Amino acid sequence: MNIILLGPPGAGKGTQAKRLEERHGIVQLSTGDMLRAAVASGTPLGREAKAIMDRGELVPDAVIIGMIEDRIGAADCARGFILDGFPRTVAQAEALDAMLAERDLRLDAVIELAVDESALVERIAGRYTCAKCGAGYHDRFLQPRVAGVCDQCGSTEFVRRNDDKAETVRTRFGAYRNQTAPILPYYRARGLLRSVDGMADMDAVSAAIDRELSLSEAVGNRH
Ligand code: AMP
Repeated sequence: MNIILLGPPGAGKGTQAKRLEERHGIVQLSTGDMLRAAVASGTPLGREAKAIMDRGELVPDAVIIGMIEDRIGAADCARGFILDGFPRTVAQAEALDAMLAERDLRLDAVIELAVDESALVERIAGRYTCAKCGAGYHDRFLQPRVAGVCDQCGSTEFVRRNDDKAETVRTRFGAYRNQTAPILPYYRARGLLRSVDGMADMDAVSAAIDRELSLSEAVGNRH
């Protein structure tokens, strides 16, 4: 089973991809995770990508397409894969079609996690963690009991993800609207697009995805 998960930053693609991986024994391919690993290990690709990611912009198509091309033919993808964060542009979607055709593979479904963007901006932009113990907090929804002091370990130092700053989150949403959303009609026209409510709780979203996948399988089997 080969699936794409689509949706803006913070929609829950990573969480749902991991759950699909466990339930169906297929592999999560997250271009964001691959890039963050390259940044952490300081490779030339990582150094180039870091500044772009910190601004919330998209890494060039050629780089990303090469990364995916290296992965989808690998042995661990034989049972299928979940693309999480790829494709993000129409050019990437077209390149994906070409690579699948070359390998005689096909997509079973493209699942869109439909979410309320304004709620997500607040959710992502407000999150931060204790620098010492990693406990998670939020500017509005979960503040430490004593302002500026971690409930768990008493540390007074906190960190935020570089690309979770309000301004960067806005750029990431802009990139989704302008560059990624145009691939929805691309897949709708091919009869592959399924939409689930990404604002529901995690278990309900997983159940909705499974329902859509079994419907796709039933349709696929009839062809
Ligand atoms: P993510 O973890 O999927 O939100 O990705 C984090 C960042 O990595 C994005 O904001 C982009 O800068 C970059 N990125 C990840 N996947 C892609 C992609 N398919 N195309 C371009 N840039 C990407």
